[in-house]
Amino acid sequence: MRPCVWQGVSPSVGRQAVVASQYACPVSDHASIVNAILAHGALLAANARAGVNGVFTKDSEADRLLVNDPFAFLVGVIVDYQMPAERAWILPYRLKERLGGWGPEYLADHPTEVAAAFAEPPKLHRFPNQTPRFVVDGSRRVIDEYHGDAASIWSDAPTATVLQERLRAFVGISQKKAAMAVELLERDLGVVVLGLEGSDVAYDIHLRRVMLRTGLAQRDNVDHMVEIARILHPQRPGELDFPLWDIGRSWCHKTEPVCGECVLTGLCPQNIVAGNLVRGA
Ligand code: SF4
Repeated sequence: MRPCVWQGVSPSVGRQAVVASQYACPVSDHASIVNAILAHGALLAANARAGVNGVFTKDSEADRLLVNDPFAFLVGVIVDYQMPAERAWILPYRLKERLGGWGPEYLADHPTEVAAAFAEPPKLHRFPNQTPRFVVDGSRRVIDEYHGDAASIWSDAPTATVLQERLRAFVGISQKKAAMAVELLERDLGVVVLGLEGSDVAYDIHLRRVMLRTGLAQRDNVDHMVEIARILHPQRPGELDFPLWDIGRSWCHKTEPVCGECVLTGLCPQNIVAGNLVRGA
């Protein structure tokens, strides 16, 4: 196989050396795939701005809370795991409805009520014991580190790298969720985030499957995929995140991927078996 040249992107010299030694282009050149992924991302962003799809959920009230209340957004990030994203992102709204109060002080002071609200049928989360602990812990952290104001986590125009680190300091926020949150804050919520070359893709199951099937990534490993995204789109690696996730959810299913309808059809080498090896799928 020919070495991958990464046409259309401008990798740093050091990173280019890594690429040439480790990777090969299977069928199509990777730059064309990356361009198609970014074009899909631009379409998704335009649709979100036009209100075609809600930014987070299909519930306008829940979306309004997430957009206008930084603490609710933080809770959404914390609870977004092991369940469909739409269910996770509507959770802050449902939790607020069930509680007698809201905000970091209230939640930190009422752990029993928070746990009860999660457990009340229908349960708010797949893990109704662990998740409220994460939320209460996060509330305490907002009080202790950010004077009770969740917006202070990102309101000083941090770099993408610093913001990821701040978010990862919260119990329950992994690399995947911190990287995703940086993108959401900058792209959809208008938060000023500097140094977007330091943004990253989230190591998400849909993204992993697409990166392997397109041949962009060679193995299912977080460091490898994050580094590949940095090489493919060095000016803003995190910009690849949402469109890759959406392609995985919309067409590149674990079983029976719909290649004929996928935005990457004609470009993707369709390494279906490689994607089937994604752990946890
Ligand atoms: S659905 Fe098919 S064409 Fe689209 S990314 Fe997956 S394997 Fe490639």
